[in-house]
Amino acid sequence: MNKLRLLSFALVMLFVSGLQAQESEAEEQQPKQEGHENNNKFKQLYETFATPNQYRTGAGAPGEAYYQNQADYKMDIVLDDKNTRLDGEAEVTYYNNSPDKLEYLWVQLDQNVRKKDAPALERNPSGMSPVATPQRFVSQHMEESFDGGFNIVGLTHDGDKLNYTINQTMLRIDLEEALEPGESFEFEMKWWYNINNHITDRARSGYEHFPKDGNNAYVIAQFFPRMAVYNDVEGWQNMQFWGSGEFALPFGDYEVNITVPADHIMEATGELQNRKDVYTKEMMSRYEKAKKSYDKPVIVRTQAEAEEAEKSFSNKTKTWKYKAEMVRDFGFSTSRKFILDMMATDVGGKDVMAVSLYPKEGNPLWEEWSTKAVASTLKSYSKQTFQYPYHKAVSVHARNQGMEYPMICWNYGRPDEDGTYSDRVKFGMISVIIHEIGHNFFPMIVNSDERQWGWMDEGLNTFSQYLAEQEFGEKYPEAITPLEQYPSRRGIPAKIVPYMKGNQKYIAPIMSNPENVYQLGNNAYGKPATALNILRETVMGHELFDHAYKTFAHRWMFKHPTPEDFFRTMEDASAVDLDWFWRGWFYTTHNVDMGIKEVKKLYVTDNATKEGKEFLERYGADPEEIDAIYVVEEDSEEFDENLKGKSALENSSTLKEYVMDNFSEEERRKLKDPKYFYQVIFEKPGGIPMPLIVEFTYADGSTEMKRYPVQLWRMNDEVATKAIATNKEIVKMVVDPNLETADVDVNNNTWPKEETTSKFEEFKESLGN
Ligand SMILES: [Zn+2]
Repeated sequence: MNKLRLLSFALVMLFVSGLQAQESEAEEQQPKQEGHENNNKFKQLYETFATPNQYRTGAGAPGEAYYQNQADYKMDIVLDDKNTRLDGEAEVTYYNNSPDKLEYLWVQLDQNVRKKDAPALERNPSGMSPVATPQRFVSQHMEESFDGGFNIVGLTHDGDKLNYTINQTMLRIDLEEALEPGESFEFEMKWWYNINNHITDRARSGYEHFPKDGNNAYVIAQFFPRMAVYNDVEGWQNMQFWGSGEFALPFGDYEVNITVPADHIMEATGELQNRKDVYTKEMMSRYEKAKKSYDKPVIVRTQAEAEEAEKSFSNKTKTWKYKAEMVRDFGFSTSRKFILDMMATDVGGKDVMAVSLYPKEGNPLWEEWSTKAVASTLKSYSKQTFQYPYHKAVSVHARNQGMEYPMICWNYGRPDEDGTYSDRVKFGMISVIIHEIGHNFFPMIVNSDERQWGWMDEGLNTFSQYLAEQEFGEKYPEAITPLEQYPSRRGIPAKIVPYMKGNQKYIAPIMSNPENVYQLGNNAYGKPATALNILRETVMGHELFDHAYKTFAHRWMFKHPTPEDFFRTMEDASAVDLDWFWRGWFYTTHNVDMGIKEVKKLYVTDNATKEGKEFLERYGADPEEIDAIYVVEEDSEEFDENLKGKSALENSSTLKEYVMDNFSEEERRKLKDPKYFYQVIFEKPGGIPMPLIVEFTYADGSTEMKRYPVQLWRMNDEVATKAIATNKEIVKMVVDPNLETADVDVNNNTWPKEETTSKFEEFKESLGN
């Protein structure tokens, strides 16, 4: 055989096979899902991302000139239980660490969202429902709305009145002289407000009234005028509080004295300074015991003591004194109804107290699982991010609440009155505790701007919650029996499918403000958590993901990250290009749908096929002059039954001759000689490109998993053709057999087509919801 002829033949084949692939793919284009973007999906996000600068680097880390301002508070708070009213006095020191002169300061008045005439009350369109409960009807159409706004009684600097302007939930202090870089400003503030009932008047804080014994249980937050954040990204973050977008807060040191009825028990952000003044002798000795109990909680205030106190209604008061350093907020919870338990937990060699506070209405569920869930969460999250830096973490039981503050959070999960509870209540309670305790990491320490980016804390936290729940299930198998694993509500890819394939009209990209999305739970919690889980399991792998995630947490611990800081760090620390992933999952409402469009079974032959000859001629090659190897489809008229069951070398003497002439015996032994050739056209109706995972089942029953990189879709977003050569006959192909990618339509995932219940449907049924 002539070497030159062979070479030119090879070149022609290389050339035409490339063209063929492109042509056939172009012909196969299908109508596509509507989307929000129309660029090459692998294009870098330069235009979308903020430009890196000296404050935030292109690597996603704090830059050389990174700064953050600080606000320290000294406060005296008095809770009037009889009138459900809170009075406060504060001395605030604000440190301007920015390079900018500040002519005014913005202070957040969150309680103003509950002013009688607050615009927030009218922010949603409302119709009259055809049927309503009397309670709902009265509250909607007959009652005056509750007046729970802040009443500012004094605002002074060194005793002199300050000029200020209130715009809804924001208060601007106008400074006589601008606050210079590096300087601080002190001011004093006095205020009061009516505390809302958080059951009847849904809110992130307030009180629950227990009519049977006449007591209230308070979970109090946003109770003081809080400094807004000033930074390199927003200037002042003074976007109004409307209710859905949570908070943006600077770090600071707190000294807070809280005066409540003498028979109350309290927990709060910070270290209790006068435990001996507020605990009984018995409580003190049980507390000392709890410090050494690492496997089970010690009851510090018993249910019997709490029930006794429920009757007392003391007229005396006690002041609880707390100090906290480097926290971004402060919350407290108090009632005479509270039972208190504690357990020491070793977090990376440091003792942290896991604490629970609950009324008897939470038992027996709360004494059983709350504190254990707290301790287990601290360990799981510390492993994923950084060592938990505070000395305690408190879980408070409050009906209908799931809300987080530094070191303390409110959680739902209440048994029926007879003490019985369903699995739904139990796992709901454990999950919400894991979630809210987890918020200590995001956003209490990795202090993102919740007002603008709800997903940054909720999404990251819900993802970490998923891992922590699975670990909780492993640590306490008795809690999940007879289930094999903890029944996580969010994180598993298949669970986000109903949302992602839903009506596009009611879906917003993850990168949306929480006020402007239709389904906040799916948008800010479920979808980002699932995306991160898929990123870890399917795109990056545990090792690369875990390192990058930890790097992000360390870089931004006690700082204020933006979404770009997260996106950039995940790439920077892993060398995995993820722009396509962020674009698809975070910036659009596209979904994942990949499948098998067509499978052709092919054989090698010496007999020139019509299609093969035309092909060569089209590109100026003479079929008579070329020793070509032809490929024939099993279904075509030109197919010869004799080709079946034989290998390529057996079917083509041209091929055999070439191999004999050009390879030594040793080299020939290493050559494969496939019997079966398949041309598979994979399709991608979904807008998000994802790695293509295919399971091949062979005639002998064996299976093989093939993972094609996502880059397969970079030139053609619609279809991708793959030639597969194998020694064993393929009898079945399944795309994404383990449901890793949140594929919204699995009807096109299997070849040959199956008409039976899909694996996804079976999976959904097995979950029972
Ligand atoms: Zn949350």
